[in-house]
Amino acid sequence: MEFALPTVLGDLRNQVRDFVDTKVIPNETAIIQEDRTKRKDTLRALQHEAKAAGLWTPHLPAELGGRGLGILGMCALFREMGRSPVGASVFHCDAPDQGNMELLRVSASEPVRERWLKPLCAAEISSAFCMTEPAPGAGADPSNLRTVAEPDGDGWKISGHKWYSTGGGDASFLIVMARTGAQAEVASGSDESATMFVVDRRAPGVTHVRDIPTMGVDLLAHREAEMRFDGVRVGPEAVLGAVGQGFRLAQVRLVPARLTHCMRWLGLTARTLDLCRAYVTSRRSFGKVLAQHQMIQVMVANAAAGIHAGNLMTMHCAWMLEQGKSKEARPYSSMAKNHVARLLVKTLDDAIQMHGSLGYSDDMPFAQWYRHARSARIADGPDEVHDIVIARDYLRGRLDVLV
Ligand SMILES: Cc1cc2nc3c(=O)[nH]c(=O)nc-3n(C[C@H](O)[C@H](O)[C@H](O)COP(=O)(O)OP(=O)(O)OC[C@H]3O[C@@H](n4cnc5c(N)ncnc54)[C@H](O)[C@@H]3O)c2cc1C
Repeated sequence: MEFALPTVLGDLRNQVRDFVDTKVIPNETAIIQEDRTKRKDTLRALQHEAKAAGLWTPHLPAELGGRGLGILGMCALFREMGRSPVGASVFHCDAPDQGNMELLRVSASEPVRERWLKPLCAAEISSAFCMTEPAPGAGADPSNLRTVAEPDGDGWKISGHKWYSTGGGDASFLIVMARTGAQAEVASGSDESATMFVVDRRAPGVTHVRDIPTMGVDLLAHREAEMRFDGVRVGPEAVLGAVGQGFRLAQVRLVPARLTHCMRWLGLTARTLDLCRAYVTSRRSFGKVLAQHQMIQVMVANAAAGIHAGNLMTMHCAWMLEQGKSKEARPYSSMAKNHVARLLVKTLDDAIQMHGSLGYSDDMPFAQWYRHARSARIADGPDEVHDIVIARDYLRGRLDVLV
């Protein structure tokens, strides 16, 4: 069993780590403050530097401006980027654009690739993924999908109501999941009742209702849009993959995207723990530094062991995907996602605790990070749904690739 990264990848990882430490982290406050006034000067300057350093969109193939790294390589680099909440954006590897680039790359028609994929890869435009709907529509259970697409000439007419379309307000185009077949087909397991469409955000009939006020503070693309679609006309080229492949493509997008989320979250967890080390090894209470109190050591040990487990779970799942075992990887991606999301939330909560009143203040970043991190247990499927997948596959005797 080989645990070391290949030399080329290890070097690249070190390069990204160094870039994040020396350029991104010192500028992250400026990037966040500029973003609140709709400016992106510092972000754009750093993106330019990342490009010049050959670190831009490493997940994309060379013809789209990347380095053609597989999912394992992506995971290794995304962990370093994730150490700053703006890190992934600097390298143009943040959600939802990164997952959308991948989805378009494998399933878009030639006109869509020309019109939307190429400028998206160059970060000239941004995108959003519109699957979730307000109740009673699609949420944890995608078979509640209410948005419909009806045949209209050689194309389609889409009507429906979506929310939590991250970045939808600023996006140039949207990937919209809509029903194109009878719901009974979902129940029968054939899963061919939904289709994904690429929709121009400025097309007649598309309305950005609002950005939903949430627990998280605004951060670059991470604004949760509510969108309405009223008879929006798209041509046949807007279909991703083929009609009826919506649910299948959702899995193609979600499993690798889940792992890249995990690695970004592990990066942030690791940075949180680093900040804790600095405090508990310097702050004194009851005659000794905090780090000498065993209850503090338990919190540190749980976080360190959790990060290690999260790294292994995520990299193992990425390895499965690279072996072509996408179906088998699904429950493992659920395990990794649940483990890492809970770890991030718990470690941030413990970091606030270990820092006392300083931790609760905005002089430290934990409170802001926590507000974002809490969504990790809901977005991309809530914990419970992932636990159901894990338990179901285990009970059926399908989890047979445990190391
Ligand atoms: C910050 C953020 C960003 C997001 N970005 C996007 C995006 O870009 N695009 C997009 O399409 N969606 C996005 N989402 C939506 C996300 O995918 C959904 O919130 C998620 O799938 C859950 O759906 P729901 O919110 O409708 O919860 P519901 O379906 O209403 O479920 C509510 C709760 O019920 C419980 N539950 C549900 N099913 C079960 C079960 N079988 N067993 C036990 N308990 C259960 C869970 O605790 C769950 O949290 C985002 C969400 C957040 C919070």
